[in-house]
Amino acid sequence: MQRTLSIIKPDGVSKKLIGEVIKIFETAGFRIVAMKMKQLSRAEAEGFYYVHKERPFFGELVEFMISGPVVIMVLEGNDVVLGNREIMGATDPAEAAQGTIRARWADSKQNNIVHGSDSVKNAEFEIAYFFSGIEMY
Ligand code: ATP
Ligand code: MG
Repeated sequence: MQRTLSIIKPDGVSKKLIGEVIKIFETAGFRIVAMKMKQLSRAEAEGFYYVHKERPFFGELVEFMISGPVVIMVLEGNDVVLGNREIMGATDPAEAAQGTIRARWADSKQNNIVHGSDSVKNAEFEIAYFFSGIEMY
């Protein structure tokens, strides 16, 4: 059994896709073991995406991530890290497989509706960044 961190980004929330995305996760058999809505501070967004801090898009990415509230979830299931990435689709919606969340609703490489941890190790960091043990069920 694995856990991964999922975020419905500000564009997903403003497009009223919270329900759609949760439905997709539950239909896929993932269990939601923690969830909260939150507007990230600049420091929180920068800390979360610190691995990208040298990338040219870092400043814009942080601005985007703090532009409105997000929904942060911990998903649990067999191979959920990779399974969630498959359901999300590629970063760039133009390259995302048909039927994936990003192919259906993302507007651009940046405004791509959802975040998902890309490895078990990063999932551990990202889950601990937002949730304490007693907030997971
Ligand atoms: P995420 O980490 O959000 O799940 P990802 O793992 O598919 O997405 P990363 O390479 O980790 O993609 O990039 C993190 C986020 O930074 C992307 O989801 C996107 O919002 C933004 N991003 C990535 N590449 C670009 C780019 N070339 N231009 C603008 N924004 C980008
Ligand atoms: Mg990533």
